[in-house]
Amino acid sequence: MKKFLVSSLLSLSTGLAYGGNGSSGGGNIYGNQLNPWFLSNTKSVTYCLEVAPGFSDISEEKLASMVDEAFGYWARTFSGTTPYEYIGEVSGLDLRLATQTFVRDAACSSTTDIKFQFGYLSEDQKVSWPNYRQLIAGAFRTSYDEVRLRGKGIIYIAPERGPLRPRSRTLHAKPWSYGTHNALRFTLTHEIGHVFGLQDDHYSSSFNLMSSRFVEKVTRIEQVEAHEDREVKSIPSPFGCNNDFEAELGYEVETGTVGSGEVSKNSAGRPPLASDGRIPEGLAKILGLPKDYILRFKTIKKQMSITFEGREYAKINFTPSVTGEIQSDEAISIYLTTKQAVFQGIAPESYDIAHEIYFSVRQTRASNVVLELSNGYQLPVFVNFDQRCWPEIGTVYEGEVVFSIF
Ligand SMILES: [Zn+2]
Repeated sequence: MKKFLVSSLLSLSTGLAYGGNGSSGGGNIYGNQLNPWFLSNTKSVTYCLEVAPGFSDISEEKLASMVDEAFGYWARTFSGTTPYEYIGEVSGLDLRLATQTFVRDAACSSTTDIKFQFGYLSEDQKVSWPNYRQLIAGAFRTSYDEVRLRGKGIIYIAPERGPLRPRSRTLHAKPWSYGTHNALRFTLTHEIGHVFGLQDDHYSSSFNLMSSRFVEKVTRIEQVEAHEDREVKSIPSPFGCNNDFEAELGYEVETGTVGSGEVSKNSAGRPPLASDGRIPEGLAKILGLPKDYILRFKTIKKQMSITFEGREYAKINFTPSVTGEIQSDEAISIYLTTKQAVFQGIAPESYDIAHEIYFSVRQTRASNVVLELSNGYQLPVFVNFDQRCWPEIGTVYEGEVVFSIF
């Protein structure tokens, strides 16, 4: 069986490669270098803009509003994601992120927390980052207060024109100025993600906002034009499929590829019994679908509706389901030294250790749900959602586990 995603907002393909964010490979002990720049004890953060003439055709006011939008995206995303509240044995800690108010300074000064450098690098910075001609964007923390756990830094976005334009044949001529400026919107959102302690995700199985090659991809000639109307919220969150599994996508199922190695296996490791080697014949009859078909899945507010040939084919109500993460990875950590004065009562053994505070959910399972076919048949199923909210629907049929019924 092969499945092809035929319609979704997730058409950017993934790529696995190392992309820099000022960090380097190797066995570093990062210490507090990976900490979020601000924790909730910091109530207000200032930022300023410095815009070089060759940066783009976008006005400074518009750039400022796009920066605000990107901060807003993270405030919403973090408010819908629960952090751990522990450091060592101490519980009840406020480890929420992006709780600050972000205030624009009319001019950059030495007290400004985040400096957005649109198309501009100082001579010192060029010396510090010798590969700056390959740099399209980056977030660099330039200082960190180990007592109050707050950082300062810059976010650099390369210009479209002039000597700092990155040398790359695949880079769009005007990635920022073009159309609705989505490439810049996405890039700003990615870079601000680093401010909150998210690292580049090098090995994600699916494309997401913090993928290491995200910025390189969204600024490519063909991508800039393809994603003109796309909203940032349609890109999979680094925390995985959102808690409500909200997504709209369609996929095409081609069942004529038995023996390709992609046949789903049952719990005993054998291919399930079926006329076409895919699903049991009796189950295929119940589902009543042709050999090849396209299904569209839309999940909103705990209701999934599945359509086939433009008509409702089945639905699932997730309200009574039992859900659980079946795979997650660490996403954000904080590392404290004994100088910190933000948290009380931290035990000595909890210092000089990275504490994971946010996790990225790669896969979630909803069990105890029912697939209600429009012909009235009800099939008990379980649904696995991957990071993109792609659903994989399974069932137990005559004692055999079928992991994927479509
Ligand atoms: Zn990055």
